[in-house]
Amino acid sequence: MKYNDGPFDLVDDLAERTNGIAINKSENGTFELANTRAFRQMIFSKSYRLPTPTPHHPPMVAPPPPLTATFWTSFWKNKIPHNARNVWWRLLINKLPSGLHLHSIIPDMVEPLCRVCGTDLETSQHLLFSCPKKLEVWQAALSRYMEERTWTADYICSLFFPDPDPVKPLHDIPIFILIGTILASIWRYHHAFVRENQAFEPRTVLAAVDLAITQVCAQLAEKKRQSEEREPPPPVELPLVENNFPT
Ligand SMILES: [Zn+2]
Repeated sequence: MKYNDGPFDLVDDLAERTNGIAINKSENGTFELANTRAFRQMIFSKSYRLPTPTPHHPPMVAPPPPLTATFWTSFWKNKIPHNARNVWWRLLINKLPSGLHLHSIIPDMVEPLCRVCGTDLETSQHLLFSCPKKLEVWQAALSRYMEERTWTADYICSLFFPDPDPVKPLHDIPIFILIGTILASIWRYHHAFVRENQAFEPRTVLAAVDLAITQVCAQLAEKKRQSEEREPPPPVELPLVENNFPT
């Protein structure tokens, strides 16, 4: 009758199997031969399966110019549509509620993908400018109200930061008012999409942009008329005509 040899075989077997556990693929990549650092890393990665970290805000193509005190003074003083100022300000301080930003705060509730196009990460720039449906609105609106040029998402975004390239709106609309009005319309429809599940349809948004700009132009014309009424233009002096006619 064969008696159990006791726990020694079990211990040896366990030790052999434990020492054979592959930690990594290097020469010393088994439990027995690995250094303590490799062992710690293996245990840590098995205990805490961390997702691959994604950058909170991927860098823009070029870093925006610094926001100086002079810029902020002009930002608060400039006439900007009131419903655009908050969004614009959040863009400047990188605190827009983009999918990527919200995902970093509440990952279980918000996906980082853009909810409008469903293809790209929703960064701040994508949220406002480079999402294909939003870019379509920007390009169509700017082609109507600005001098002709190629409107890329990067370029449009740069108009909201200090020292943009000089661009000239048509119809005497101040640039801050023009881009603020377009931004406000896009934001209103984005909000309706997120909160009320209303489709973000570029043609509808563009019609709203046109209406808003028509109203802005009417308000500007009215203000100009009122200021001219308050300050009537100086009387035109009639040129002296020499009266050479014989009397
Ligand atoms: Zn998108």
